[in-house]
Amino acid sequence: MHLPKYYAVLGKGDYLTIKEERHGIWEYLEKQPSGWLCSIAVNRAIMPRDLPIFWDCGAVKYRNAEIPVSGKTLVTPAWAIAQYEKNFPKLGDLIAAPDHIFIPGSNLRFRRKFNWHSAEKFLTFAQQTLPECTPIAVTHGVTTQEKIETAHKLYELGYHAIAIGGMAFNASDVKGNIAAVTAIRNCLPFNCYIHVLGLCSPTYAKAWSNLGVDSFDGSSYLLEAFKGRFYKANGGQITKHIAALPGCKITIPLCYCHPCTQLRMSGIETRSSGSRNQNLSRAAHNLEQLLLAQTSVIISENREKEKQLLLSLKSCN
Ligand SMILES: [Zn+2]
Repeated sequence: MHLPKYYAVLGKGDYLTIKEERHGIWEYLEKQPSGWLCSIAVNRAIMPRDLPIFWDCGAVKYRNAEIPVSGKTLVTPAWAIAQYEKNFPKLGDLIAAPDHIFIPGSNLRFRRKFNWHSAEKFLTFAQQTLPECTPIAVTHGVTTQEKIETAHKLYELGYHAIAIGGMAFNASDVKGNIAAVTAIRNCLPFNCYIHVLGLCSPTYAKAWSNLGVDSFDGSSYLLEAFKGRFYKANGGQITKHIAALPGCKITIPLCYCHPCTQLRMSGIETRSSGSRNQNLSRAAHNLEQLLLAQTSVIISENREKEKQLLLSLKSCN
């Protein structure tokens, strides 16, 4: 069974303040993700240190800027390496070459040039400065064919880890995105590490498992927690409830997952909106539910495959 790694995206300040102490949302999880995706565009007060980290250059944040900038600083390969170094990456952490996302209406000619130049320089710097980490470059393209060609060039340049970008903005096109990743996966050498950026629903997790994708990430559990969405995993499905507004009656049934029970003991209700602590506690709950659903869908898919295999073997005998 192939279990792709899920890197949960860590936001800017994903810690709760309880009795004046900061507690990361990871402290409340019973089941941890495979790792965390952290952008160097934000400074964090506390960080989970024991799991692998995918260090990202923060391209989503500056995607609308003509030239990549972080605050007032130009995003360059040298700057990115210096930022990664400041965070003391560990052996096996992924470090991303700075890239510029292809968004409609942007100067694609410039973005193509920027991405290629950045990937070239970054690989040299990474090999010299952070040899314990795995450099990863993002393939972009207007079409899947362009993404395949770019991924090939990046592999030949020396990147043995490629991230597929630009699909999270169109996450609802499940068929289209899975078809694109299938085409890219099939065109790259089998030993090339593949990461899918920003698509982490149970349906996608099942597809990535089937395709032999190595890892993926996503922040939906966090973004939706702040919009008041309360996940409930039922096998490989996730039902989304709406958290109660301040002063309103809670209609969502009591949840006995690890984050919810732990947080209730600290007087925090995950089923209500209104405060940062409540939203973040719901993020911990949503992440726990997402992890349960992802694992469940992959396991049941593999059981089904085993069942079909046994049936076909029996019919041969
Ligand atoms: Zn819960």
